[in-house]
Parts: sequence; structure tokens; C-alpha cells
Amino acid sequence: MSDCIFCRIANKEMPSEIVYEDERVIAFKDINPVAPVHILIIPKKHIPDMTAVTEEDAELIGAVHLAAIKIAREVGVAETGFRLVNNCKEDGGQVVMHLHYHLIGGRKLGIGV
Ligand code: 5GP
Ligand code: ZN
Repeated sequence: MSDCIFCRIANKEMPSEIVYEDERVIAFKDINPVAPVHILIIPKKHIPDMTAVTEEDAELIGAVHLAAIKIAREVGVAETGFRLVNNCKEDGGQVVMHLHYHLIGGRKLGIGV
């Protein structure tokens, strides 16, 4: 079993509230939501952080982005708006070292969240 919690979630070795899944991407509700909508979108491939993305991942990152749009429509924030956030490494506030994007919305967001 992987020692990465998001790989475990992607492999269904650990429970989560999955809201979207395709071949390369999976999305699930954040365990500690900061807004009415707070979903984590991840590539199933283990990429530690955004700086580890390579040319060969370009389509994968595109797939993550397209998934974000589909999910935003699905959960009803595509019209009202939302934020898609990647925290990168320590100063960026990254805690889980598996590339992920926070889809946050459902209320008016400030400068922070
Ligand atoms: P980061 O700070 O790395 O950008 O964000 C990590 C996010 O993962 C946090 O918002 C945290 O609440 C969420 N998280 C951490 N562990 C789990 C978990 O086991 N399940 C789910 N669904 N979310 C988690
Ligand atoms: Zn991982």
C-alpha cells in the first residue's frame, strides 16, 4: 500500500466522498472544507508537487482542468464562480505531497479564502 494518502484515496484503499472520476483524474470532498464547496482534484498519477510536472504531463494537467470545469457545473458554481488553487511546497502551504487542486466556492471568497 502506498504511503501517500491521496494515492490511497485514488486506489480506493482509503474512503473518501468521490464526486468525479475518469481514467486519469479523481476528485473528492475535502475532509476539512473552508467553503460550502471544497473539492480536491488530483491526477491519479503520483506527482509530488507542481514543480514536478513535466512536458509529458501536459495532457494530464489539461484533463485536471477540464474535470474542474465539469465538477464546477455539476455542483452548481460554474455560473456564480469559484477558485481553483494549487498550494506548492512549504511556503505555498502544501501539506499533502501529491499534486492537487482545491476547487472552492459556494460563497463570496476573500483575498485569503
Ligand atoms: P494542501 O494544504 O496540501 O494544499 O491541502 C491538503 C488538503 O487535503 C487539506 O485541505 C486537507 O483538509 C485535505 N485532506 C487531508 N487529508 C485528507 C483526507 O484523508 N481526506 C480528504 N478528503 N481530505 C484530506
Ligand atoms: Zn500520491
